[in-house]
Amino acid sequence: MKYYSTNKLVNCVDLENAVVKGLAEDKGLFMPDKIKVLPASFYQNIDKMSFQDIAYNVADAFFGEDVDAESLKKIVYDTLNFDVPLVKVEDSIYSLELFHGPTLAFKDVGARFMSRLLGYFIQKEGENKKVNVLVATSGDTGSAVANGFLGVKGIHVYVLYPKGKVSKIQESQFTTLGQNITALEIDGTFDDCQSLVKSAFMDADLNAKMKLTSANSINVARFLPQAFYYFYAYAQLKKLGKADNMVVCVPSGNFGNITAGLFAKRMGLPIKRFIAANNRNDIFLQYLLTGIYTPRPSIATIANAMDVGDPSNFARVLDLYEHSHESICNDISGVSYNDTQIAYTMRNCYAVNKYILDPHGACGYEALKDMQKPDETGVFLETAHPAKFKDTVENILGTQIQIPAKLQEFMKGTKQSIDLSKDFEDFKSFLLKR
Ligand SMILES: *Cc1c(COP(=O)(O)O)cnc(C)c1O
Repeated sequence: MKYYSTNKLVNCVDLENAVVKGLAEDKGLFMPDKIKVLPASFYQNIDKMSFQDIAYNVADAFFGEDVDAESLKKIVYDTLNFDVPLVKVEDSIYSLELFHGPTLAFKDVGARFMSRLLGYFIQKEGENKKVNVLVATSGDTGSAVANGFLGVKGIHVYVLYPKGKVSKIQESQFTTLGQNITALEIDGTFDDCQSLVKSAFMDADLNAKMKLTSANSINVARFLPQAFYYFYAYAQLKKLGKADNMVVCVPSGNFGNITAGLFAKRMGLPIKRFIAANNRNDIFLQYLLTGIYTPRPSIATIANAMDVGDPSNFARVLDLYEHSHESICNDISGVSYNDTQIAYTMRNCYAVNKYILDPHGACGYEALKDMQKPDETGVFLETAHPAKFKDTVENILGTQIQIPAKLQEFMKGTKQSIDLSKDFEDFKSFLLKR
């Protein structure tokens, strides 16, 4: 399969190059040049298939031309060794719990898949030069990427995070791992971490001496596998006899997750429509209302993984719909909530349904409550376990929540990190000495 850039200023590349480069040279995002519609027989039998088998069929449509069947099956099965249950919250509203993976967030799926696909290409090429993955994080991405790539041969991961600005739980998820994961505690902000990574990719000297790549959410190998769980949500609803008029609501930040759902719809998955739920960072909602896209600096909210002022995957949404505002509005509607509304929703849902939402899932749940039509069955993606935002959730609900065993394990580990300044020369000389 060929991958083109959304900016269309450079030639297509193959899958391996799209994965290793991450971003196209014209700064566009890679898109597969075909989206295959899956056969009717697949949809007829989907409710009798396992999550892994469903995902393999989807993966084959995207990656089957570039990865042999046996290896691809192994990558998919190895990635999805946890369940993604659909839980009924109330009549016609279901939560797709994406938080049962190693770091309790949906980013686990993409990060694990990408690590294994990259590992496959490294092995196939038989290269002896190590690939170095650089990732800047404000918390969630670093933990998913570090755990996804842990122990993968031929790859070393450097996680850059701002000193004192990441919660203890999150920090423990990427500083206690050891092996091929190195945590770098930067004396600066998240933006400083991100600019160090960007400078490293642009530094000719560094790139001549070592192989560098990124694992951020624009990478096709992180982004496309997110389509898997939309199919599985449909399969679970079909089993319940409720799959007609399925509406999916996605708490959105960089819009990678929802865009993967739009791809699933293009592959024939009968999702009637999507709702993009935002916090106060409502750039996409404003686009839907006005047809004009105006990025803004992000505002801090309690659903902080959605604090994005210029969603990177917007370019993919535009490309998918050939820049037609009307077609986009036909498939997606938007809504946004401020922190007070998010907290109210969390309290209300807990009181009425005894279901604990995290602040991100709360936006999704509330958007369904507000926008669902009587004949529709709604599914919202619960993107993180509430314990990942323990203090916020406990303050709002006024009750203690349990930390799952998986998270407790991380917190028992010993922190190993290396202090660095925000000066690029320090970072560069550190990397060159490795
Ligand atoms: C990353 C993240 C999101 C936003 O997902 P996008 O793909 O960036 O839209 C929502 N919720 C949580 C918990 C996240 O970590």
